[in-house]
Amino acid sequence: MKILMVTSETVPFAKTGGLADAVSALAIALRKQGHDVKIVMPRFYKIDRSKLNAIDEPVAVAAGQIETWVKFYYANLPGTDVPVYFIDHEQAFGRDGIYGTKAEPDFHDNPYRSAVLCHGAFQLCRFLGWYPDIMHAHDWFCALVPVLLKHVCRNGYFAHTASVLTIHNLGYQGWYGKDSFPALGIDWNLYHGAGFERNGSINLLQAGISCADMITTVSPTYAKEIQTSEGGFGMDGLLRVRSDVIKGILNGADLRQWNPVTDKKIPFNYSSKDFSGKAKCKAELQKKMGLEVNPDIPLIGIVTRLVDQKGIAEVFAPTYGSIYNICTSMNVQFAILGSGETWCENEIRTLQSKLPNMRAFIGYDDALSHLIEAGSDFFLMPSKYEPCGLNQIYSMLYGTLPIVRKTGGLADTVENYNQETGEGTGFVFENLTPSAVYNTVGWAVWTYYNKKDHLRKMQLAGMNKTFGWDEAADKYLEVYKEALARGCNL
Ligand code: ADP
Repeated sequence: MKILMVTSETVPFAKTGGLADAVSALAIALRKQGHDVKIVMPRFYKIDRSKLNAIDEPVAVAAGQIETWVKFYYANLPGTDVPVYFIDHEQAFGRDGIYGTKAEPDFHDNPYRSAVLCHGAFQLCRFLGWYPDIMHAHDWFCALVPVLLKHVCRNGYFAHTASVLTIHNLGYQGWYGKDSFPALGIDWNLYHGAGFERNGSINLLQAGISCADMITTVSPTYAKEIQTSEGGFGMDGLLRVRSDVIKGILNGADLRQWNPVTDKKIPFNYSSKDFSGKAKCKAELQKKMGLEVNPDIPLIGIVTRLVDQKGIAEVFAPTYGSIYNICTSMNVQFAILGSGETWCENEIRTLQSKLPNMRAFIGYDDALSHLIEAGSDFFLMPSKYEPCGLNQIYSMLYGTLPIVRKTGGLADTVENYNQETGEGTGFVFENLTPSAVYNTVGWAVWTYYNKKDHLRKMQLAGMNKTFGWDEAADKYLEVYKEALARGCNL
């Protein structure tokens, strides 16, 4: 099958979250099965042109009210033969930030930037003379692709192309004023006709959901949650209408990057047969973070975007959050890596100055995220909602027991500890409250000190799970076939 992934993020070129990992890993898994997969994404300012191959021919793109010109670059995903094409457009992408910056978190011209990418994806196919069976769009930034395919392009060379839209996080939808509509480079008729209109504004994801031949999201539980008023972010009604085309497919982990046996980013490798490297990683992590180097104190890791979705208030909010009480009443350590909302970054700095057993690095640091997964005993992830979540999967693979809230992909991947039998792969709680976080961390810490045999049993159970992408790729292929049957009446 010929598949074009249209995305704003791909590891290692641009990443803000799990979307970037998922796109490249899925592309690689599909390629391994012999499919002809290409990826197209923006050439963000940070992506060094000199490391890419240039195609020296400008191509017209119908974003905005007058045509604009883009240039294509390409490179393979490192270590693979999956080609990634980059759309270079100075006005749209020649600046810092993927969707925004600290000063302007959501660029006001994102509809235009999204249109340059999505129109550009079709132009790339025309330029290459390569017409995919499937255009697979990821999240709101690429949601214009199913719209363009259904209402503008599904004729001629694209007559037998179908669209799939994957929702990696329904919390981000691309809402903009109606005055942004002309930036999309499509007829006003589609404002209502393709489902953009929402309370007098435009909602890019809503239009994508309305037009896609098939819709997927990144775990079976999240596929159900988004169709409820609690988890639907106002989109649940439309999603219920389209429920027959929605499938939840659990993300895998990129095992080339995340495997304690081979991981080059951690100082000591280890496996389920020999944990000695993990103990050394723990000592290294304690040293690096400025914590007391002591193998006998349970160490809890956190790696996260510091945003509301991740349950940060219940952990860090002044007077409300639980971490101060945890750190002062339990013999435990925390190693925290994250960046995001300013109040939370500041609060973590303040807490750190008061709590010798809590150390944090505010920022983005890939190598440290690997060390935290390897060196911690537990990993705390109390998300309000979690479409799939990757860190709990990495944790299990690294013999680090996740402490999670039962939601979305966390519910689908982490099996709660059974105190009688020692079965399970982590510690799970239902309601997101500071006391639930406190109590569940307390339960994990108690188990650490009192049930060492159970702890090891759970570590082994997690490490022996398979979280590869091959199974997910098979499920996506089923979805692609269904999209072709529905979209193209084959
Ligand atoms: P989300 O996509 O909602 O952020 P996921 O758990 O699906 O959550 O994926 C998060 C990914 O981003 C993981 O690979 C995680 O290690 C990484 N990550 C998040 N914050 C940081 C950070 N501050 N430094 C390094 N990696 C981070």
